[in-house]
Amino acid sequence: MMSGETGRELLAGVELGGTKCICILGSGPHDVRAQRAITTTDPETTLWNIERALSEMFEMHGPPSRLGIASFGPVDLDVLSPRYGFITSTPKPGWRDTNVAARLRDAFGIPVSFDTDVNAAALAEGRWGATQALGDYAYVTVGTGIGVGLVVNGATVKGFGHPEAGHIRVARRAGDVWPGHCPFHSDCVEGLASGSALAARAGKPASEIAPDDPLWTDVAHTLAQLCATLALTTAPRRILFGGGVMNAQAHLFGRIREAFRNSLAGYVDVPAVMDRLDDYIRPAGLGDRAGPLGALALARSVRPD
Ligand code: ZN
Repeated sequence: MMSGETGRELLAGVELGGTKCICILGSGPHDVRAQRAITTTDPETTLWNIERALSEMFEMHGPPSRLGIASFGPVDLDVLSPRYGFITSTPKPGWRDTNVAARLRDAFGIPVSFDTDVNAAALAEGRWGATQALGDYAYVTVGTGIGVGLVVNGATVKGFGHPEAGHIRVARRAGDVWPGHCPFHSDCVEGLASGSALAARAGKPASEIAPDDPLWTDVAHTLAQLCATLALTTAPRRILFGGGVMNAQAHLFGRIREAFRNSLAGYVDVPAVMDRLDDYIRPAGLGDRAGPLGALALARSVRPD
């Protein structure tokens, strides 16, 4: 474990995404020795290409001590489950019940840590981004879908599985009657405020919806309700937002903070939160790098057997 304390231990990571995968070798954002993108196709071809890419990187730069895998989901994170480390009920064709973690562990013979892409990105933000030195925080990505990485006591939350806070149903803003777009819940947070929901509602990509379009009031309300729910459950010390919708519509931050304050209605009387909302609800720090760096942060989190 000593080498892990130096911060220069050589680690490997794989960000497993729906359209592409990124293999990375290094110790952190300032020490990336190699990085390679692979198109995601069927599981067998994709995992074989990942193994080959990692092998070549290890040959060139030296073998890593640990591997982190940050995967699209849903995934099985229950260490007591026979399907631990599997991608499970994904609608992505061919990927249902794919064994990922054990396969890569056996291929390279090094300890592996496996988690969701959004949990991994949250860990990276804590290690190198906008939540450094905080043990309790949330990372919300608002893109095609809405994912929430939740870190409590310095670790991502896992029980029977991973939280799916993007699918919480929250109180609708009075007068907001759009039915929602989630195939499971219609008007959950993802069904109301994700990029795909906004495209369905507005008939154009979220990035092309004007900032003064009235629908943003509803969207900000929904995301603020999510923040209030998080604040009232795990009491995060900061809530980060990233993802394509937030990056394209920065005006949302101010609106979310205001609606968050209104939603809590004075109940959370904590100056570190309520007097500093600009800092409490704020953009993530690592941008597009959060994915691959998340895989490295996961590798760092591998517990010794
Ligand atoms: Zn839903």
